[in-house]
Amino acid sequence: MTRTPLMAGNWKSNLNHQEAVVLVQKLAWILADKKHDFGRVEVAVVPPYTDIRSVQTLVDGDRLQIKYGAQDVSEHDGGAYTGEISAAMLAKLGCSYVVVGHSERRQHHGETDELVATKAAKALAAGMTPLVCVGEGLEVRQAGEHVPHCMSQVEGSLAGLSAEQVAGLVIAYEPVWAIGTGEVATPADAQEVCQAIRGQVREAYGEAAADAVRILYGGSVKAANVAGIMAEVDVDGCLVGGASLEAEEFGGICRYY
Ligand code: PEP
Repeated sequence: MTRTPLMAGNWKSNLNHQEAVVLVQKLAWILADKKHDFGRVEVAVVPPYTDIRSVQTLVDGDRLQIKYGAQDVSEHDGGAYTGEISAAMLAKLGCSYVVVGHSERRQHHGETDELVATKAAKALAAGMTPLVCVGEGLEVRQAGEHVPHCMSQVEGSLAGLSAEQVAGLVIAYEPVWAIGTGEVATPADAQEVCQAIRGQVREAYGEAAADAVRILYGGSVKAANVAGIMAEVDVDGCLVGGASLEAEEFGGICRYY
C-alpha cells in the first residue's frame, strides 16, 4: 500500500487569528507558486483553538488544499467542563486532525496513556483523525530504553481501538530531547522507532493496519534536514513545530522531494 505523506505544522501556543490567516495565505501561495503536487503530500496546519474558525473560513473560501486540526480535545462530550473543547465542536469547525498525547501535554498537564486513548476515541467518534504522539525523554534514550518506552506508550495510547480505527490513525514519534532543541534525531534514529511502531501495530492489529497506519517523525525538522528523514521507509511524514511558523520554511518542508 502507498501511504500519502503528511506534513503537519503544530503551531503550539503561537499566532493570533489574524497572524494565522496571514501565515496560511502565505503558505498557500508558496505551495501553489512552487507548483506543489497536492496529491503527493498532504499538508495540514494545527493552530491554537482560537484560530481555527479563521483558518476554516480561509481554507473553505479559497478552496485551499490545506487541512487543519486541533492540538488537543476534551475527554468529555460536552457539558459542565469549563474551558474544555469537545470533539463535536472541532468536527463542526471542519477539523480533519486532532493531536493527542503531545509530549508537552503529557509533561505539563500530566496526561497519561489512558487519557490519550480516551481522547483518540473521542476524536474518531466525531469523524476526525487522531494524531497520536509518543516519544522518549533524554534519560530514557541514554539508558537505551527508547524502543520499549515508545512501544508501551503506543500500546496504552491505542488501547480499546479496533484494527480498522488503528489503520486510519496517524502516530507521531517525537523524541522529547529533539523537540524545540535543534537536536534532530538522525534518519536512522527515526527509522528505528518508526519501524518498531509499525511492527507493534502489525503484531497487535494485523498486516492491513500496519500497512495503512501513517507514522510521522517530529523533532526539530527543517527544510534542510527533512529529505534524509523522509527517505526512511517507515517514516510517512513529519510533525513540525517551530519551523511551521515560517511559511517559506514549512513550504520547503512540504516540498522535500
Ligand atoms: C513539536 O512540538 O511537535 C515539534 C516537533 O516541535 P519542533 O519541530 O519545534 O521541534
